[in-house]
Amino acid sequence: MCFWAPNSLSLVAERTQMQDRSEHAPTLAFVVPCYNEEAVIEELLKRLQAVSEDLLKSGAIRQPATLVLVDDGSIDRTWKLIHAASKSGLVRGVRLSRNHGHQAALLAGLMAAKEEVLISLDADLQDDPSAIPKMLQAYALGADIVFGVRASRKSDTFFKRRSARLYYKLLENMGVDVVPDHADYRLMSRKSVETLREYGEVNLFLRGIIKNLGYQVETVEYDRVERFAGDSKYPLTKMLRLAIEGVTSFSTRPLRYVTWIGLIVALISFLLGCYSIVIWWQGGTVPGWTSIVVPTFMLGSFQLIALGIVGEYLGKIYLETKRRPQFIIDEIAEPEPPN
Ligand code: UDP
Ligand code: MG
Repeated sequence: MCFWAPNSLSLVAERTQMQDRSEHAPTLAFVVPCYNEEAVIEELLKRLQAVSEDLLKSGAIRQPATLVLVDDGSIDRTWKLIHAASKSGLVRGVRLSRNHGHQAALLAGLMAAKEEVLISLDADLQDDPSAIPKMLQAYALGADIVFGVRASRKSDTFFKRRSARLYYKLLENMGVDVVPDHADYRLMSRKSVETLREYGEVNLFLRGIIKNLGYQVETVEYDRVERFAGDSKYPLTKMLRLAIEGVTSFSTRPLRYVTWIGLIVALISFLLGCYSIVIWWQGGTVPGWTSIVVPTFMLGSFQLIALGIVGEYLGKIYLETKRRPQFIIDEIAEPEPPN
């Protein structure tokens, strides 16, 4: 009987892997979801190829980086541009059958990439590529996941800054573990991507899932710049949907809070009942409609909110039980080396 063996063996394996990391530069892929991004594709390719050349020169990667560009059901020339770029030998294009949303498109890209290290970033070049060498350094030192974290929110509107603060506070209160001010600019090792593959969830909030894999995590700060061209593809409605996803995919506390609020309201109603009996006993006049109408409205609105929260979870269960694919790939353009 040797209970210690598997553990110490895996420790040895881990150490060897870490040594390997600093001795052998990895292969790298950039994973970029693109939705109606025709205005930025050309610049994106140029910049990422320049970054790749620099990394290759410095010995941080073993061969030129692959660019995995996912077309998330665009209706402009995005796919045409990606398809044409695949002829350069460095771009793998993945075309989804329709607009599946940023998180699903990102997942499709991560699953389609074959390299040892994957770095996901936005197409609009808001995620400053100068943080990439630092991410690779953290990887060489043993991190499996490196989160790009915004150094400041100066480039945001006042509304976005305030709402982001409130949102992270809310997530914290709900017991959801995420890295504040991290969008989806992130390095992932092959090991963490393979673990992510095991997650079959349709309700995707990748920031939460990836933080929860439990592998060694590092953060790297960067300055988020203005969008290079085109408009944001995240209107308020999509942002709210992602925010609700963040809470309901990871926490059932809202349901528990509903029960608590229900109990508190029940206690208040009971006390009100006692009070009115006492008033009646003392021969006081019957109170006006305020005491009837206000609680009725209060309880009505509370019930609607409670039903909404329950419905949100029920909807999630409904979608998960269907076991539909998280995304549907229509076409893949493999990198073709130029003749
Ligand atoms: N995106 C996507 N599908 C969508 C919406 C957005 O693939 O349905 C991509 C988009 O092309 C970009 C990234 O997600 O690469 C982030 O979107 P955007 O820059 O518009 O968001 P913002 O920075 O304004 O929050
Ligand atoms: Mg953006």
